[in-house]
Amino acid sequence: MLAWEELEAACMKCENCDLCKTRKNVVFGVGNRSSEALFVGEGPGESEDIKGEPFVGRAGMLLDDMLKIIGLDRAKNIYIANIVKCRPPGNRDPGPEEITACYPFLERQIELLRPRLILCAGRVAAKNILKTSKGINSLRGSFSAFSINSSNGNNAVVNMEENQIPVLCTYHPSAILRDDALKRPA
Ligand code: URA
Repeated sequence: MLAWEELEAACMKCENCDLCKTRKNVVFGVGNRSSEALFVGEGPGESEDIKGEPFVGRAGMLLDDMLKIIGLDRAKNIYIANIVKCRPPGNRDPGPEEITACYPFLERQIELLRPRLILCAGRVAAKNILKTSKGINSLRGSFSAFSINSSNGNNAVVNMEENQIPVLCTYHPSAILRDDALKRPA
């Protein structure tokens, strides 16, 4: 099992899907690797691809503001990662093969971090973390569970057990930028 440094090195040179052909940078993740909270987005956009860091564009600025309100700061006490580590061209949703190829990196990040809470932003993150087809509107507002080492299904709303991490889903910051009415519920 890879430790943080090895995992990052493997991710930086990953060519497991076609996104490697168009990326400028791999966006591995950012934040404190001892954090109790993990934030999961969808995939890098243009600004993130250029900088090699998640959530640094307009959505990232909004995210930082939202996290600040609940006492979280990427420089201190939260880790931020995405479902896919390379930018899908034109900011399209990542495809199923791309997600399948990339997901083991996030899975290992979760194992290494062992966060006490996973925050999922938007439909793509929620769907892939929870292996659900439910929409973001029905997922938000209650806790679901992520099962470490058994993320092939059955991540339903349950009582948390030893190898389970509570997951809270909310609207993606990009969706909030498009629709101001989502800001307050988020
Ligand atoms: N949107 C995401 O889902 N992730 C990023 O890193 C940036 C924008």
